[in-house]
Amino acid sequence: MTDLIALVDRFGRRHNSLRISITDRCNIRCFYCMPEHNAEFLPRSSVLTFEEIERLARLMVHRCGVRDIRITGGEPLVRRDCVELVAMLAKIEGLADLSMTTNGILLREKAVELRSAGLQRLNISLDTLDEATFVKITRRSGVDQVIAGIDAAIEAGFESIKLNALAIRGISESELVGLVRFAIERGVTLRFIEFMPLDSDRAWQSADVLSGDACLELLSRAFGQVTPAGREHLSSPAETFVLSSEGREGTIGIIRSVTRPFCGDCNRLRLTADGGLRNCLFAQTETPLRDAMRDGCDDDMLIQKIQQCVGEKHAAHGIDSNNFRPPDRPMHAIGG
Ligand code: SAM
Ligand code: SF4
Repeated sequence: MTDLIALVDRFGRRHNSLRISITDRCNIRCFYCMPEHNAEFLPRSSVLTFEEIERLARLMVHRCGVRDIRITGGEPLVRRDCVELVAMLAKIEGLADLSMTTNGILLREKAVELRSAGLQRLNISLDTLDEATFVKITRRSGVDQVIAGIDAAIEAGFESIKLNALAIRGISESELVGLVRFAIERGVTLRFIEFMPLDSDRAWQSADVLSGDACLELLSRAFGQVTPAGREHLSSPAETFVLSSEGREGTIGIIRSVTRPFCGDCNRLRLTADGGLRNCLFAQTETPLRDAMRDGCDDDMLIQKIQQCVGEKHAAHGIDSNNFRPPDRPMHAIGG
């Protein structure tokens, strides 16, 4: 049996969680992620094939101790035959958790197939329940499709479904309460995520972030007591809180990526759709694995490159520092 090569960085953080972006394309255009017009996408030949993704995933699970994989994008459900890829990854022995983040637009048609293929958990993005606000955020119509997708996913029986809402000043204040009620009615967890500087337009300003504190304040005004219930789990970025709406109790999460970064507990690596391994959302460099594979690199050589990438990880993202510079790639091209 081959020895396990744990992916531990200079600061003692062990990396056992991998996010795989399977496309940089998307069927909507959220302003906090993509440009409204003329988005640039990778040529198809640059994108990893399913076999290449599976090879890297298998290697990182079997040889490097990766325990969970999240499939993301761009919008993962726009990649043709994505269910087939789910089935390939679900077969990797030793993988404890396989999940996906999606905008939900195509979920109504795909939920049952995804579950049957072995997908365990889903995070669905939902910033608003109001169509006009949805159009303002995404520059496309479709909130009803997303809601139908959420309901189809609940029916399909995933192990867990979470809804993710970005917390954006000037937009989210009027949405929070309705979103919490919606989530509690359906028995799913809603998490608010502070808006980060990853938009293609480079328009982000710290004043645009609706902080976790501000969200909690608004929620306690609407629901009364909001009781802290600890972190979801040790390496989870979400702090959880319990509140009740019309006699029903529910859990919400707050992810304070900007105002209270959790870099010290980060256990994540990210693989871009074109095979760049990133040690941080905000990394300025990537380790290109696609060409290494296409040039015939063997597994040991790939592992050396993966270790090197982990070794170069910085202590923190530094959004709060004066010389912070956002990464060259926007969110849809990294994989959130
Ligand atoms: N298209 C899928 C979706 O939207 O769920 C998956 C990819 S998307 C990049 C993953 C997550 O990143 C979504 O929950 C989205 O809301 C979040 N996200 C996108 N841009 C962000 C930003 N600038 N700051 C914080 N989160 C962001
Ligand atoms: Fe698409 Fe997700 Fe980015 Fe919105 S956040 S534009 S749904 S990739």
